[in-house]
Amino acid sequence: MGGRESDMVLLDANGIRCDGRRIDEPRRIMIKAGGLKNADGSAYIEFGDNKIIAGVFGPRDVHPKHMSDTDTGILRVRYHMEPFSVSERKNPAPSRREIEISKVIKEALAPAVMLEKFPRTAVDVFIEVIQADGGTRCAALSAASVALADAGIPMRDMVAACAAGKVADTVILDVNNEEDQAGQADMPVGYMPNLEKITLLQLDGVLSAEEYKKCVETGINGCKLVYELQKKALQEKYFQNGGQQN
Ligand code: UDP
Repeated sequence: MGGRESDMVLLDANGIRCDGRRIDEPRRIMIKAGGLKNADGSAYIEFGDNKIIAGVFGPRDVHPKHMSDTDTGILRVRYHMEPFSVSERKNPAPSRREIEISKVIKEALAPAVMLEKFPRTAVDVFIEVIQADGGTRCAALSAASVALADAGIPMRDMVAACAAGKVADTVILDVNNEEDQAGQADMPVGYMPNLEKITLLQLDGVLSAEEYKKCVETGINGCKLVYELQKKALQEKYFQNGGQQN
């Protein structure tokens, strides 16, 4: 949180945000299942101005072998931002932030994936952010879930993700980059709607107990909207096109 809220109007007198949205309105979301010919499963997501591809490989042999587990499969996630994905060129080397986001996405996906069915193997998830505009971890997590389902990996549920936050002392749904930089709080939430379980919850900023509760509820509502679009993306690939596209 930049704490620079006074510099810009994040919420006007009519309750309209800096990008024209109402407080409970998500950005435009488009999800497509498939697309990568060489992956076992893949997905593409546009979440506002975020554009992200996820590719899933496996279950497959683990290299190096000592990393394998005789009792269960392992999940590996790499989140990577292209140098051109942000306005100020990002160094292509993995940053601390990318390592952290890879870890939280892995931990958010793990409860959904039935890894115990594939001992000694690995499921690899590669995430490429080609354009970033705030909320990439949520968009990436949502795309990765669809890619895992597209790969036919048995899952307990899909993880849908969306952030809630606070600007101008008001709880908002789906925080964009400007709101993330200059607002008061950003709370990414990952949620399995069928199982009613949260698998990702982070908070940057300060909230009262009441605001915290409202943010969690708002984030979950966003996840439910994303979940419908995840299911629609899979239905479009498998039921409307006969599974012909990649
Ligand atoms: N960002 C950037 N350069 C970087 C890293 C991030 O411009 O090296 C921007 C990008 O738009 C990103 C936003 O800052 O979406 C917020 O980043 P954060 O670490 O909060 O993660 P995110 O909200 O993307 O999950």
